[in-house]
Amino acid sequence: MSNNKHQLKLVTLPAENLREPSEKVKFPLSRDFQRLLAEMLRICRKSKGVGIAAPQVGVNLQVVIINLEHLKVPPFPLINPKIQKYSAKKLLLEEGCLSVPGKFAKVERAEKVDVVAYDPKGKKLEFKADGFLAHVIQHEVDHINGMLFVDRLSKAERDELTKEFYG
Ligand SMILES: [Zn+2]
Repeated sequence: MSNNKHQLKLVTLPAENLREPSEKVKFPLSRDFQRLLAEMLRICRKSKGVGIAAPQVGVNLQVVIINLEHLKVPPFPLINPKIQKYSAKKLLLEEGCLSVPGKFAKVERAEKVDVVAYDPKGKKLEFKADGFLAHVIQHEVDHINGMLFVDRLSKAERDELTKEFYG
């Protein structure tokens, strides 16, 4: 991945790796992993995404990047992220996905979550998120479990949104 020839690409439906669970990341991080993070951020920015998960660039490892630069929050990676707690209260927000281009639907998720993850230095992060950020994190964590936002819709809605990718 050290030059243009080795740039990663955005993966979209019907790529099968999007449906497969990802492996845990081991510390210390390799140089290849640092390049993976850089590629993920590059692709996320280029596609104007608010988040990206490694399977979306074809690598089934447990890492996501949250990119809320439009809200003046510097992008940050979450390595081996887990959601420890979901609030009973739900929130319905419109979602899209870089891997399901051009499709949007309202998805119900927990309004607040407790998250545990690691930063690139291997430091454990524990924090609470709510609202839009909680939605983005739940969406990205779904990716590393092989799940897409369309899987949280009714079958009829999912089929309608994804039929063109399977045609
Ligand atoms: Zn997505």
